Amino acid sequence: MASQAIISVENLGKKYEIAAPDTPLALNNVSLNIAAGEFVAITGPSGSGKSTFMNLLGCLDLPTTGAYFLNGKNVAELSLNDLADVRNRQLGFVFQGFNLLKRVTTLDNVALPLLYAGVSKRKRQARAQELLTQIGLGKHAKSLPNRMSGGQQQRVAIARALANSPKVILADEPTGNLDSETSNEIMGVFTRLNREQGLTIILVTHEQDVANFANRLIRFKDGVVVHDGPVTHP
Ligand code: ADP
Repeated sequence: MASQAIISVENLGKKYEIAAPDTPLALNNVSLNIAAGEFVAITGPSGSGKSTFMNLLGCLDLPTTGAYFLNGKNVAELSLNDLADVRNRQLGFVFQGFNLLKRVTTLDNVALPLLYAGVSKRKRQARAQELLTQIGLGKHAKSLPNRMSGGQQQRVAIARALANSPKVILADEPTGNLDSETSNEIMGVFTRLNREQGLTIILVTHEQDVANFANRLIRFKDGVVVHDGPVTHP
């Protein structure tokens, strides 16, 4: 059950230095909570602030105004080392273009966040194999990503995002490069992770079909949240 806020943003604002004088703020006074175990879809037209918001949630950038609390900690107060650690251990990232290392086996791709976390080689390989099996690619440990289909590559990227058992997955248009059948399969994977493991999932999408897999929809326009409510499932 969704309960305590794992993500809390208060009056979050972002102004880029190089923005033209009359453009709206990239993010303007955004306040919201996301509880542990929620599955949230973020939508909105191009330029509405989705990426800016995700970059802030992912601790890849800092807000100009307001505050972001992840698991109760104010992210602005963390050192650069702590931030890197939070990104590696508390957050899992999934991207539209998969972002896998092409000349490295799927097993080593999945094991990479564990290497950064200082896990021994034997444990890294065992954990990566377990994750690949969990995601239905147990027999592809030695395959190279560029020999695999888009759907398989995105599964590998999801397994990599899960390596350090994060509580939150941030996914930026994860089905943007996939056909609709594969897209549904990948959304099925996110749904299972949310329902069975209680992972908090925050996903940016342009597509209503994809957003319908979530439980909550947040829509941005001109840096402002213009809608925030439950997704009604038929
Ligand atoms: P979306 O992801 O919804 O397309 P963005 O968050 O990328 O929206 O953009 C929000 C606003 O901020 C837009 O006006 C965009 O031009 C501007 N913007 C985004 N990134 C930068 C940047 N690095 N430097 C300057 N302006 C930016």
